[in-house]
Amino acid sequence: MKIICIGRNYAEHTKELNNAIPDNPVVFIKPSTALLKCNADFYYPLFTQDLHYECEVVLRVCKNGKFIQENFASTYFDAFTLGIDFTARDLQELQKKKGLPWEIAKAFDNSAVIGDMIPFTTEMKTKSIQFQLQKNGIEVQNGNTADMLFSFEKIIAYTSQFFSLQQGDLIFTGTPSGVGPVAIGDNLVGLYDGEEVFSCAIK
Ligand code: ZN
Repeated sequence: MKIICIGRNYAEHTKELNNAIPDNPVVFIKPSTALLKCNADFYYPLFTQDLHYECEVVLRVCKNGKFIQENFASTYFDAFTLGIDFTARDLQELQKKKGLPWEIAKAFDNSAVIGDMIPFTTEMKTKSIQFQLQKNGIEVQNGNTADMLFSFEKIIAYTSQFFSLQQGDLIFTGTPSGVGPVAIGDNLVGLYDGEEVFSCAIK
């Protein structure tokens, strides 16, 4: 399986990192070794001094497809969860300055935290998802998928031109504003509808 990630998908977050609003989704991939499932501890990597959380809605792909049309795209995901796209911001800034790929800053081991899967009902697919991230019990991010620059369907239509979707793939759909650093000892909790979806302790 692979993890498809979208960057700069919320205007407020794009501005907070001084990036331009993109014309097309900004896409990168994390390998399966990046996955850290449900409530496992995360160990602060040695190669960064500025590790950031980015809380995101994560879609679960339920069937294979390529060149998927936008109007059929909603049949290609059946569940979502919340997750963290951990980012070594210092390394990412260096890579960006040099015009080099971001993978070492974004796709390292355990950089894709996910929580429990929540199956979509037909009704839920028509509504936006409101979600929060708490750091040490204090809300640091509060997002709504209605604010995404590119919808779930647009993301699937765009990315499936380049990467065949396979059942079991995950799609991180971008983070709202409020990203920030974590330190050893911090605890991150993702919330949907007042319920804890994941909890991640930084060790
Ligand atoms: Zn992200």
